Amino acid sequence: QAKSAGRKTVRFFDPDLQALAVARMALEKDIQRGLDQQEFVLHYQLQVDAHGKPRGVEALVRWQHPVCGLMMPGQFIEVAEDTGLILPLGHWVLDAACQQLRLWATQSHTANWTMAVNVSALQFAQDDFVHTVAQAVARNGIDASHLKLELTESMLIDDLPQVIDKMRCIQDLGVSFSLDDFGTGYSSLTHLKRLPMNQLKIDQSFVRDLLADPDDAMICQTIVALGHNLGMQVIAEGVETLGQRDFLAGIGCDAFQGYLYGRPMPPEALLSFEIHMIKAHQALIE
Ligand code: C2E
Ligand code: MG
Ligand code: MG
Ligand code: MG
Repeated sequence: QAKSAGRKTVRFFDPDLQALAVARMALEKDIQRGLDQQEFVLHYQLQVDAHGKPRGVEALVRWQHPVCGLMMPGQFIEVAEDTGLILPLGHWVLDAACQQLRLWATQSHTANWTMAVNVSALQFAQDDFVHTVAQAVARNGIDASHLKLELTESMLIDDLPQVIDKMRCIQDLGVSFSLDDFGTGYSSLTHLKRLPMNQLKIDQSFVRDLLADPDDAMICQTIVALGHNLGMQVIAEGVETLGQRDFLAGIGCDAFQGYLYGRPMPPEALLSFEIHMIKAHQALIE
C-alpha cells in the first residue's frame, strides 16, 4: 500500500524546499540590510550608435556585499521582486541613475548621453509610478529626454489601456521607453502595435549565435524591420564580436550594446575607458 502510493504522493516536508525557503528568507533580510547600509551600486554599460559613437549607457545594479563581494542582479533581483523589496531598491536605482545623469550633463562629451534604467513589473504597476518618475527627474534637475525606461513584455500584457495611459503620462514628461529582451516574452503584435514604445531591444539570446544560426539571423532581421515599420528605433544587446556588429549594422540596426564596446563598469572607470574609445574612433576615421 505505502509502496504503491510512493511516487505520486505529495511530500509535505521536502528538506530541499525547506532549505531553499530558509535561504530566501535570509537573503530577504540581507537585502533589507544592504539597502539600509547603502551597499548597492550602479555600473554603466555603453550604448553606441551606428558609427560606434557612445550615445549613452544602461544602468545595471550590483550589490557590494561585505562578505560575498560584488553580487550580480541574477543573485538577488528575483528575491527582491518576490518580497517587494524591489520597490525601495528600484526607487534608489532610478534616483542614483538620475544623479549620475546630472553629473554627466555638466561635462561636454557626455552632455547628451541617455540613461536607460530597468524597471520591474511591480514598480511599473504602482499607482504612483508616474509621480515617482516625475520626482526623480525634478529632484535631480535632469533633462527628461535623456532618461529611458526599459520595460519587458511580460509586464505589459494585463490591462493594456491602463499601461498605455501610464506610458503616455510618462512620455509627456519627456521620458522615453525601450522594450527590453524583445522576442522572449509573450506579447502579441497587436499589443506591440498599440504600445507607445520608442525603442525595441533585441534580446541577446538572438544575437549570440547570429552568425552560426540562420534562424537567429532571420529573427534579428525581422525584429529590425518590425521595429522600423512601427516607428521605433532598434538596439541590439549582447554584441560581443565585430562579426555580429557588422551583420546587425547591415540589416539596419540603429544602436549596439555589448562586451564589444565594454562591460558594465563603475562611472569612474567608464569615463577613462570612454576617452580611449573616442581616441580609437578618431584614429579609425582619420
Ligand atoms: P538586461 O536588462 O537584459 O541587461 C543585460 C544583461 O546582459 C546585463 O546583465 C549585462 O551585464 C549583460 N551583458 C551586456 N553585454 C553583454 C554581452 O556582450 N554578452 C553577454 N553575455 N552579456 C552581456 P546583468 O548586469 O547581470 O543584469 C541582468 C538582468 O538583471 C538585467 O538584464 C535586468 O533584467 C536585471 N537588472 C539589472 N539591473 C536592474 C535594476 O536596476 N532594476 C531591475 N528591476 N532589474 C535590473
Ligand atoms: Mg535592460
Ligand atoms: Mg535586456
Ligand atoms: Mg536580456
